[in-house]
Amino acid sequence: MKPIIRFAPSPTGWLHIGNIRTALINWIFSQKNQGTFWLRMDDTDLERSKQEYIDGVKEDLTWLGLSWDQYTAQSDRLEFYKTAGETLKKLGRLYPCYETQEDLDFARKMQKARGKPPIYDRAALKLTPEDIQKLEAEGKKPHWRFKLNDVPVSWNDAIRGNITFNDVTFSDPVLIREDGMPVYTLASVADDIDLGITHIIRGEDHITNTAVQIQIFEALGKNMDELTFGHLQLITDISGQGFSKREGSLSIRSLRAQGIEPLAICAMLAKMGTSDSIEPKHYLAQLVEEFDFSKFGKSSPKFDLQELEMISRKTLHLLPFEEIEKKVDGISRDVWKVCGGNIEKVEDLHYWQNLLLDATNFEFTPFGENDKSILTAAIETIPDEFSEETWHEWAKEITSKTNIKGKPLFMALRLALTGKDKGPEMKDFICLLSPQIILQRLQSALKGL
Ligand code: GLU
Repeated sequence: MKPIIRFAPSPTGWLHIGNIRTALINWIFSQKNQGTFWLRMDDTDLERSKQEYIDGVKEDLTWLGLSWDQYTAQSDRLEFYKTAGETLKKLGRLYPCYETQEDLDFARKMQKARGKPPIYDRAALKLTPEDIQKLEAEGKKPHWRFKLNDVPVSWNDAIRGNITFNDVTFSDPVLIREDGMPVYTLASVADDIDLGITHIIRGEDHITNTAVQIQIFEALGKNMDELTFGHLQLITDISGQGFSKREGSLSIRSLRAQGIEPLAICAMLAKMGTSDSIEPKHYLAQLVEEFDFSKFGKSSPKFDLQELEMISRKTLHLLPFEEIEKKVDGISRDVWKVCGGNIEKVEDLHYWQNLLLDATNFEFTPFGENDKSILTAAIETIPDEFSEETWHEWAKEITSKTNIKGKPLFMALRLALTGKDKGPEMKDFICLLSPQIILQRLQSALKGL
């Protein structure tokens, strides 16, 4: 059977690398097995969910090269969740509760003071029909909790192996809020059944959710043999702290703004926490070929931005010209060949490309006291044509006129001709420049001294 999987972000912030790793692993698994990938917006929290974040999710996935086959949003399916809620009520698994937030906070505090775990005490189960009538007559509206059965829950996790909860030490989860809105816990299960999801791959922060949701799945009649769970370790930053969507610090869009290559992000995230090494890749398809759940470990991998920057640089250097052409308008094959190996980011190519077109597009930064004589001699001896040998022959001529050689000579010329103290091999780069531009640039550097 071909897998049906889903990536189900809550659009309450920009996606960060932790979310994207979940999306990526789902996508890779689906690609590897010719599955169906659902993108589902878990947007039942109408106050915090925003259209700009929904657009952001789609934009980020697309930028990374991750496509989806089907799309749905929970806010469009509220009626459907109501029906699921009604089913659970009929089965006697949902019960009305009238406690206010303050009541619950107080009860929790009392439990804490007595050294007991903060689990809902099921006081509402003791309400008689008369009590309920009275509360309703007072205008109180209930929220609805799912009655968990006190039975062990276990599953064979695709990543972590067998997971068992012997006692149900959780509060009965609230599935429907006072205003009638379904909570994620219910909406997600109802959707996963309805969409025929076969694999739920998500972060290990959902392990307790899974234990609870398995009982909801079963209550709604799901054959659990047809559903596999897999929980990925959570990524932390270098200091061991988790990432949160709302911090926004390592959002995918901030990485994009920094010029990080999308393929580098995927190459790194697909391998973190696995037995494979993290290295630059030529294509996303390589990640698909190499994927296997058995390669994932249990400990939390650490994300290092510097490592990503290094992978990004190497990824860029591996890209064929055909890919570069798509990213930089009007880039020439020669500029890529000569300058590609020295750049950090794709944007850097604009700089080198522009140097071929406009003679005076930067300010000359002097290198040393000999600049004047070097530049004067360079102008006097400028060759008519440039080939691979020109650079060294020209430098020799300048030396014979000025008696200056080595670093002061090369740096003065490099700075005058490129505006930077680092960059491509000058012997190759000057062959791309027109002799007029070289002359104008030397003259303007000299003038600026
Ligand atoms: N909306 C949930 C989240 O963003 C989805 C969890 C799940 O995959 O079920 O954490």
